[in-house]
Amino acid sequence: VKINIAIDGPAGAGKSTVAKKLAQRFNYVYVDTGAMYRAITWLAIQTNTDFHNEEELYALLTSTSLNMKNGANGELVLLVNNKEVTEEIRSAEVTGNVSYVAKHPKIRQEMVHKQQEIAESKGTVMDGRDIGTAVLPKAEVKFFLTASVTERAKRRHEEQVKKGMDSDYDTLVKDIAKRDKIDSEREVAPLKKAEDAMEVDTTSMSIDEVVDFLYHATVK
Ligand code: C5P
Repeated sequence: VKINIAIDGPAGAGKSTVAKKLAQRFNYVYVDTGAMYRAITWLAIQTNTDFHNEEELYALLTSTSLNMKNGANGELVLLVNNKEVTEEIRSAEVTGNVSYVAKHPKIRQEMVHKQQEIAESKGTVMDGRDIGTAVLPKAEVKFFLTASVTERAKRRHEEQVKKGMDSDYDTLVKDIAKRDKIDSEREVAPLKKAEDAMEVDTTSMSIDEVVDFLYHATVK
């Protein structure tokens, strides 16, 4: 029988890579909820919408079609009004502003609703900040992935260098810490470990070790 697996944690803890691999192992759907907040942030940039104007952002969101699917390699493909923005939503500008957009209760309510609909038929691995606490409080399995800020910045740095992107380690440390602060201090569904989530410190683990660990903890 299919279940839902919730994976939460701070920025850059490897959630999406791990969630994607775990989903492939179970033949489940991988749902990257961060990508949804990134998509509306990207659209706000395109349309010059103020990140702090909840009503305008909400109007923008409700007049937009947001679709996600898993590509041939299990990767996430994100469509905003039928345009693929998979790469665009990873830009520094989106990353630097997404937490402001994600603070707004009306935006969250809309996103949470979409996420709950996707998970209704079970068989998802969903990653985010509030999956275990707010989106899927009844998820059968919950994990909270952490790693030190310096380790998370190091991983992000290596990933960006590998992709040929500009990357500065010290800036990454600052950006990650700032995003975590906004995400954990917001009023609605802040970044927090669900009481019944298993916390996994991945600082000295490889991606595959984390995936194996979560896999075994799930099937045990
Ligand atoms: O996971 P990712 O780093 O792509 O998430 C981008 C941002 O989206 C987070 O920093 C957070 O502000 C927001 N987010 C959220 N709730 C989620 C997933 C992401 O608020 N479930």
